[in-house]
Amino acid sequence: MKITALETLRTEEFANVLWVRVHTDQGTIGLGETFYGAAAVEAHIHDTLAGRLLGRNPLQIEALNRVMTDLPLAQASTGVEYRAASAIDIALWDLFGKVCGQPVHQMLGGITTDKLRIYNTCAGYGYVRTHNIRPVDTWNIGSTSEGPYEDLNAFMTDAGALAESLLESGISAMKIWPFDPPAQENRGLYINAEQMRKAIEPFEKIRKAVGDRMEIMVEFHSLWNVPTAMKIARALEPYAPTWYEDPIRMNSPQALAEYAASTTVPVCASETLGSRFPYKDMLERNASHIAMVDLCWTGGITEGRKIAALADTYHRPFAPHDCTGPVAYIAAIHTSFSQPNTLIQESVRAFYTGWYKELVTEMPVVRDGYVLPMEGPGLGTELLPAVFERSDLTVRRSVL
Ligand SMILES: [Mg+2]
Repeated sequence: MKITALETLRTEEFANVLWVRVHTDQGTIGLGETFYGAAAVEAHIHDTLAGRLLGRNPLQIEALNRVMTDLPLAQASTGVEYRAASAIDIALWDLFGKVCGQPVHQMLGGITTDKLRIYNTCAGYGYVRTHNIRPVDTWNIGSTSEGPYEDLNAFMTDAGALAESLLESGISAMKIWPFDPPAQENRGLYINAEQMRKAIEPFEKIRKAVGDRMEIMVEFHSLWNVPTAMKIARALEPYAPTWYEDPIRMNSPQALAEYAASTTVPVCASETLGSRFPYKDMLERNASHIAMVDLCWTGGITEGRKIAALADTYHRPFAPHDCTGPVAYIAAIHTSFSQPNTLIQESVRAFYTGWYKELVTEMPVVRDGYVLPMEGPGLGTELLPAVFERSDLTVRRSVL
């Protein structure tokens, strides 16, 4: 079997999503995806990776993963090179499953549980849909009115009612980021008393409405310096959050270790890390308790499962990221099911009940706060025929 073409697809409407389709001489096509900088990733795939991959056997997934990341400027990052490698790696696993007639989770060793707990990341329909990826600017609240789950607006204004709504659907964990506005306002340098009170309000409302029946994860988007992050960590401890995620820039295991030692709440890090090597540094220093991994950024399923195993070696759980696109979400679910230390799967109900369904044929079943394994060979989903008909679609092909 040979790779005969690499095809990339992106749209204006979902500006950050890039799909890649790996074509073969036997007609089977693998589907992958990444997120952010879609045009830059597209360029790297056609300018650099096509020359390395066309004509190669797509079933040599480990070898090709090394071929894609063995570039002088692609070292342990979630930059363009890693995002391109991730998208193609996901497509190769899809292809492998299709060739064998088995779901990707089976190709990874089979499921480790019949159903997997999810938490709801409380984004709204338009969240991170635009090119600008600066926090708050990309909240895009009310930019589209696609349904009832404008959950970002809900956690900022009526978090108690949001928690009740999630519990009604069986979801007992939620992630929120009410500290982003003051972080952006003060450039992450400090937080004043009024800003602190306002950012804590959602936590008060959740505990008042539903007590401890709801778990709360706190996302900080790497916006704070260490002393302010520690001040916020202490202030939130009475609300017993489940984890603190990315409180500071994730480029210093020493600084994160200092933070982690200062609070009773576990630290989760980080979707922003590329490859397993920075995770090793975090784990060795006790800087992180939960390994958050984005498979469409960190090097694909091939690298992601190694990070899961590395975390397990340190008795730490694995928690795959979502909040990007539908194919990456499904790839994460296959990987989550296959890893024995998966704690929980990130999910965004505004996305999986909303725009994800406009793009792919099959979505995973989410029921009573759990996601079920995908059936069908490979990832078990394809781009909908309507995607190929879109007027805002850009397609590029590199052919053998
Ligand atoms: Mg996150």
